[in-house]
Amino acid sequence: MSRQTVDEIEKFYDNVTDPYVEAWDGNLHMGYWESATANPSIVEATERLTGEVIGRLRVAPGDRVLDVGCGIGKPALRLARERGVNVTGVSISEQQIGVAKASARAVPLPADVEFQTADAMDLPFPDSSFDAVLCLEALHHMPDRPKALREIARVVRPGGSVVVADFALRGPVPERHRELVDRFAVACNLVTLTTIDDYAREFAEAGLDVIEIGDVSANVQPSMAQHAQAVRAARDRLGPIVGGDRLDQMVDLTERYAALPQFGYVVLAGSGRETPGDGTG
Ligand code: SAH
Repeated sequence: MSRQTVDEIEKFYDNVTDPYVEAWDGNLHMGYWESATANPSIVEATERLTGEVIGRLRVAPGDRVLDVGCGIGKPALRLARERGVNVTGVSISEQQIGVAKASARAVPLPADVEFQTADAMDLPFPDSSFDAVLCLEALHHMPDRPKALREIARVVRPGGSVVVADFALRGPVPERHRELVDRFAVACNLVTLTTIDDYAREFAEAGLDVIEIGDVSANVQPSMAQHAQAVRAARDRLGPIVGGDRLDQMVDLTERYAALPQFGYVVLAGSGRETPGDGTG
């Protein structure tokens, strides 16, 4: 089975960002539903998921925060606006960084916000250079997720706050659904898709202390149908870019995968590990 490379993911985002932004209003991630009967617009729901992530960041005004896989920078700008922190956003997609920079210039902000292209698995920052790191729905694109987590652990200062939100499985996939899950992952560029437990273990092994393993699967699950619908509605625009057949497959697989009990989404909160001898004892 083919797994996507970093170059392919970069090309994918360079191509699809504009149409996605139109459909999703700038947040390139899923939404959050308070309850099964809540009925927010998709724009409200995606903002709410941003809120779930940035609300868990322990930061003070003036802190330096890194946003890994920042998309077009909507969460980063909100974070700077609401918390008065300086944010650096990185994405592998040059096109996204261009849009993010233009958005940052367009609004007055209480703090510095900058964007640059960088690979999350090889961050161009010194050790302990950020007070906090967030990564909103980006690590599933990493061919080497443990490496990306180690990079996050390296650049956050000891005791600094880390929040990661991502797709994950609520439990092991039974053999009869394996093919569906694998096909969904390939169609939707999920290079890594593992259980919430494995994710949390990798987080800890990377050198981060786990504070909370937030299983928000039920809150995020309604997004999947909305996502499928938005992709379907954008078929005229996305079809020629992604390929009509691939698009139809994405929609079909998204709906079927989301119906599995293993569908999941995790918000992991933690902190950079204090090491003996760093002056804290
Ligand atoms: N966090 C943003 C975007 C999520 S989409 C938001 O919530 O709106 C996933 C993001 O991960 C995209 O910006 C994509 O360019 C980025 N990405 C994928 N692989 C990457 C890599 N290896 N290094 C850095 N960013 C990457």
